[in-house]
Amino acid sequence: MNSGCDMLRLAAPGIRDLHPYQPGKPISELEREYGVSDIVKLASNENPLGASPAALRAMQAEMSDLALYPDGGGFALKQALANLHGITADRITLGNGSNDVLVLLAEAFLTPGLEAVYSQYCFAVYPIAVQAVGAGARLAPAHGGSAAQPLGHDLQAMQALIGPTTRMVFIANPNNPTGTWLLESELRAFLQAVPENVLVIVDEAYHEYARDRGVPDATLWLDEFPNLVVTRTFSKAFGLAGIRVGYALSSPQVSDILNRIRPPFNVNSLALAGAAAALGDTDFIERSVASNREGVRDLSRSLQELGLRTNPSAANFVLVDLGQASEPAYRFLLGRGIIVRPVSNYGLPTHLRITVGTASQNRLVIAALAAFLEGSDAA
Ligand SMILES: *Cc1c(COP(=O)(O)O)cnc(C)c1O
Repeated sequence: MNSGCDMLRLAAPGIRDLHPYQPGKPISELEREYGVSDIVKLASNENPLGASPAALRAMQAEMSDLALYPDGGGFALKQALANLHGITADRITLGNGSNDVLVLLAEAFLTPGLEAVYSQYCFAVYPIAVQAVGAGARLAPAHGGSAAQPLGHDLQAMQALIGPTTRMVFIANPNNPTGTWLLESELRAFLQAVPENVLVIVDEAYHEYARDRGVPDATLWLDEFPNLVVTRTFSKAFGLAGIRVGYALSSPQVSDILNRIRPPFNVNSLALAGAAAALGDTDFIERSVASNREGVRDLSRSLQELGLRTNPSAANFVLVDLGQASEPAYRFLLGRGIIVRPVSNYGLPTHLRITVGTASQNRLVIAALAAFLEGSDAA
């Protein structure tokens, strides 16, 4: 048994109260637990069309060099990103997923005694990154459930929490798990109001889907706001969640600071090659965005036809309120081989977050939810 040494007491103070990030249930786990196959996973906002074929070919070609360390500076991928964004490569920080750059930002700029501001119902990685370095957090109340952007970020409430010890603000646009978004005018007004010693992290993980809906591209404002950092990822529209690559765009000074603590080979060779090739595959992105546009519309409409309230979404998922605890519905869907995302850990115990799948996957999840609701109505 236990030797009496409480390891938890030895952990860094911020880490003692942390709960691990809860990912969507992996397909292999459901196969093991329920003995079912043909599983549909709509739980982690992955691209239902898979990955860009160009990216897969580039990674295949990279296989012969896997005995060698990756290019630690990520030269080729940074050049491709610099071209895409029309900036110099010294403003780019590559990460093992954008999660990695979010953690690097917290490590580089936050310490105990300093604070970050984020919103209720924000992406779960922000509180973990902030608490892990022992910094404080201020949680801004979100918009109400019947606002134009239900449960979305309230920038005025966030601004009101910024004080002398605030060093960082996290904003996801659009936000996960709500799907809500901020307009150019309100986001720019916020950036203009925030003091220059507060870094504003605008997380654009869903940008490729969202720009289709008129959601602004904050990377265009980097010259204007030296305290602005924009993060992007290859995990969502690019369909490369498994290889873990994302990046931050910032002032050269901020990226120099992040680079001082970045593990030297945080992005592996396959990821570097796959991401660079994916950037050039505009055809794949266009197909993904078009398929998602129809999927969000169809899925939302079908959920509404079941009598459920859906959040508007500029991303590749729909947040739906079941009006009852969502756990039984989640379990029922698992039994039918469908994985969606319960969001109780976000403080939303009656909601489910459903990633937009292919048309047939969307029909399957709707049919299963309809069967669940029929059963629960009858009960
Ligand atoms: C999915 C997601 C990310 C991306 O995470 P990766 O580490 O790049 O896979 C970042 N921010 C938000 C809000 C997300 O939903």
